[in-house]
Amino acid sequence: MKSAFAVALQQLDNIIPFLEKDYPDKKKFKKAISLLRKPQNVFSKELTIKLDNGKKKSFMAFRSQHNDARGPFKGGIRFHPSVSEDEVKALSMWMTWKCAVVGLPYGGGKGGIIVDPKKLNKGELKRLSKAYAEFISPHIGPWVDVPAPDVNTNEQIMAWMLDAHEKKIGQHSPATFTGKPIVLGGSLGRTEATGRGGVYVLQSYVKEKKLRPEKISIAIQGFGNVGFWFAKLAQEAGFKVVAISDSSGGIYAAKGLDLDKIAKAKERYGSFAEAAKEEKFKFISNKDLLNLNVDVLVPAALEGAIDNKNADNIKAKVIVEMANGPTTPEAEKILLKKGIIVLPDILCNAGGVTVSYFEWVQNLHGYQWTEERVNSELKEKMNLAYKKASEVVREKKVSFRQAAYLLAVKRVIDATILKGRV
Ligand code: NAD
Repeated sequence: MKSAFAVALQQLDNIIPFLEKDYPDKKKFKKAISLLRKPQNVFSKELTIKLDNGKKKSFMAFRSQHNDARGPFKGGIRFHPSVSEDEVKALSMWMTWKCAVVGLPYGGGKGGIIVDPKKLNKGELKRLSKAYAEFISPHIGPWVDVPAPDVNTNEQIMAWMLDAHEKKIGQHSPATFTGKPIVLGGSLGRTEATGRGGVYVLQSYVKEKKLRPEKISIAIQGFGNVGFWFAKLAQEAGFKVVAISDSSGGIYAAKGLDLDKIAKAKERYGSFAEAAKEEKFKFISNKDLLNLNVDVLVPAALEGAIDNKNADNIKAKVIVEMANGPTTPEAEKILLKKGIIVLPDILCNAGGVTVSYFEWVQNLHGYQWTEERVNSELKEKMNLAYKKASEVVREKKVSFRQAAYLLAVKRVIDATILKGRV
C-alpha cells in the first residue's frame, strides 16, 4: 500500500497537466510545483514526561508546515499510535489545498504524537500536551502557525497547550490555537461545523441538479462528531437519512431514522450492535451499509473506507466524502467509471477549518460572533466553494476532486509566484 504522502504527491501530480497551460513561464511553474512537493518545515522531537508511577516515558512528536504562501500554517494535532512523519506531511499538504479551496487565508500544517492516549491518565495527558506545546512554541503564533484539535485531541487539550505556549511567550495569544473551549475564546458553532458544512455542500449540489431533498435517501458511515452532525442537520434540511453505522455495524430504517432515539441507545448500550438487540432496530453490517441502494453515501469515519475491493458494489449515485481520504485513488477510478459523483473531502469537510478560521478572526478582534452569524458566514463560504468547483467541472470536463484540486493548487501557485518565491 502506498504511504499517505505518496498518495498526496500522486494527487498533486495528476492535476499538473491541467494547470501547465495557465503558466506561460514554464520554469517558474516547475519551480513552484517542486516547492509544493515538500513541506517547508518538519519539526520532530522526542518528548519525555513523568508518569504517575514515577517512571519516565518518551513519545515521538512532529509538526509539519507544508506551505505558507497564502497565510499562516493551519492544521490539527493528532494523538494516535499510527502517527508518523509521513502521515503528518501528507495531512499538512491536504490542509494547504483544503484552506485554498474554501478561500481561507491559510497554508497547511499538521502535527501529531505517537501515543495511545487511552493508556495515559488525565494528568499524564496534560503533561504530554504541555510538553508538545513547549516544543512547537517557537514555531507557532497567530501569524505563523495556528494548530487545532484532530483525532483524539479536543478543546481541553487545546486549553492546556494554549496555557503552556502563553507561559513560554509571556503574553496572551488566544488566536494561536483554535478549537478552544468557549470560555477561552472558542467559537460558537464549531462542534457542528464540519457536518454542517458538508450538508451545505450537498444542498448546493441538490439545488444545482434541481432535485428535492425529501426524495433523497442517505446512508452514513460513522457516528462520531462528523457523522452524527451530518445526519442530524441533513434530516433537519429535509433529507431522508435511512442508515448510519459505528464500528460495530449499522442501523437501517427505510422510512428514515429516529436519530435522537439512536443516540440515546448508543449512549446506553455502547455500540449499535448492542443497541439494536435491546431496542429492536434493524441491524446491518458495515459492508451492507456501503452497498445500500441509496442516493447518497457519506463516508464519515475512516481513511480508505472505499477501496478497490468494495467500490464496484456501491450503488449510491453521489458520495459526499466527510472523512479525510475515505476513497482510495483506485476506488475512485471505479466509481467514476460507474458514473458515480464523488464530492471530495477537501471541499465537503472544510466546514471545520472554516469555523476555526472564524474563531481566529474573532480572537484577533477580541469579539465573539453569534451562532447565527457563524452559520450564515459558513454557508456563504461553502456555497461559493461548491459553485466555483462545479464551474470548473463543467468548463474543464474534470471530476469534482480534480476541480477542487485545480482551484486550490492554482491559488497556491499564484501566491507563490506573486510573492517572488520562485
Ligand atoms: P470520531 O472519532 O468522533 O468518530 C468516528 C466514528 O467512526 C465513530 O462513530 C466510530 O464508531 C466510527 N467508526 C470507526 N470505525 C468504523 C468502521 N469500521 N465502520 C463504521 N464506522 C466506524 O471522528 P470524527 O471527528 O467524526 O471524524 C471522522 C472523520 O472525519 C475522520 O476522517 C476525520 O479526519 C474527518 N474530519 C473530522 C473533522 C472534525 O471537525 N471532527 C474535520 C474534518 C475531517
